Amino acid sequence: MRYISTRGQAPALNFEDVLLAGLASDGGLYVPENLPRFTQEQIASWAGLPYHELAFNVMRPFVSGSIPDADFKQILQDTYGVFEHKAVAPLRQLDSNEWVMELFHGPTLAFKDFALQLLGRLLDYFLVKRGERVVIMGATSGDTGSAAIEGCKACENVDIFIMHPHNRVSEVQRRQMTSILGDNIHNIAIEGNFDDCQEMVKASFADQGFLKGTRLVAVNSINWARIMAQIVYYFHAALQLGGPARSMAFSVPTGNFGDIFAGYLARNMGLPISQLIVATNRNDILHRFMSGNHYDKDTLHPSLSPSMDIMVSSNFERLLFDLHGRNGALVAELLDAFKISGKLSVEDDRWTEARKLFDSLAVDDEGTCATIAAVFEQCGEVLDPHTAIGVRAARECRRSLSVPMITLGTAHPVKFPDAVRQAGVGEALHLPAHLSDLFEREERMTVLPNSLADVQAFVAAHGNRGKPL
Ligand SMILES: *Cc1c(COP(=O)(O)O)cnc(C)c1O
Repeated sequence: MRYISTRGQAPALNFEDVLLAGLASDGGLYVPENLPRFTQEQIASWAGLPYHELAFNVMRPFVSGSIPDADFKQILQDTYGVFEHKAVAPLRQLDSNEWVMELFHGPTLAFKDFALQLLGRLLDYFLVKRGERVVIMGATSGDTGSAAIEGCKACENVDIFIMHPHNRVSEVQRRQMTSILGDNIHNIAIEGNFDDCQEMVKASFADQGFLKGTRLVAVNSINWARIMAQIVYYFHAALQLGGPARSMAFSVPTGNFGDIFAGYLARNMGLPISQLIVATNRNDILHRFMSGNHYDKDTLHPSLSPSMDIMVSSNFERLLFDLHGRNGALVAELLDAFKISGKLSVEDDRWTEARKLFDSLAVDDEGTCATIAAVFEQCGEVLDPHTAIGVRAARECRRSLSVPMITLGTAHPVKFPDAVRQAGVGEALHLPAHLSDLFEREERMTVLPNSLADVQAFVAAHGNRGKPL
């Protein structure tokens, strides 16, 4: 399988090089040159498979030529073997023909484990073969950091540096990062905000001289491998509920458009999906595009669903590429103009094309809490604030009551106790057994000033299993 850039200029790469590349050299994102397509018979024949075997069938075409089947099978068995629930991504019914797919049974209790547990193992696999070491630098407002650290903690050839804004992530989220101890794990608390952290990551990718030749790898959702891993659970859910003989609808709590883009790909690979709902919080740039063809940058509004607090959605570029007939020059033009004006609209027929599949809703904090309370009253389920936004959007935007509606349950409610308490159902929260001692565990982190030079000096001094590069 070869991968091409959404901006049409960078050279095509194979899977191994895409995994290690991050952004393409022309500033675009990598996508498969040709998407694999499965027949209904093929998909139907996967019914009842354990999650890791289904994952093998769905992802095999994407890694072909880069990983032998037997190795890939083993990696997937290891990856999904660490999930606490045997079904890996179980469905919980909320109402007639309405479900939540629980994607929070991984080590850090959010769906990002599905991709980052795999990413860490894939990196290790290729780096050991190549005899290379890499450095990962990432910025997090919460979920990505802990999932990336959990995913990479056992990697022989990876040093991981995760920056979070000092005193601005929840205690559960901080402890999930800082209590994972290892000489290749480095938590940096920056005296600044999340954007400061992200800017320092971007600047480090743009000028890697401080790394003395060591490669820098991206773990945010621009990394293709993350999208790829998320395609699998759409198939998994559909197969539980009578697919592919019938179609499904999904509602997806959305920030950077990674998770829902995976659903869009699942549909293009042959899974009958009749509706995808983009569910956002007040940071609603994607809702404004889907409802009115205005993808216009706004200021950031902190919310009760912080993992969806974004101003622009990095993976939206991958959808734009398809909407423009995969013409990279057109996409580059649009995004160059967006960079200057902060505004983007597409031609009417392209927008209409998107609207055949996508609907959207923005839900504010009040609506989020009301939904948590309502669902708890209806069926005793405690939803996390992100999932609650998905459920609310599912109920308001649903096109057909006879099509099963599945909301992606993106996080466990214990990660966001403030929202759950505000909704009045906080007493129903309990840490899962494997995290029950989280508040007693030893923490390790370094506080640094909001200074690129200080951060890069720290990475250079510790980037080789705690020793200088
Ligand atoms: C990351 C995250 C999201 C948003 O996912 P995207 O792929 O960025 O759209 C939603 N909910 C939770 C809990 C998350 O951690």
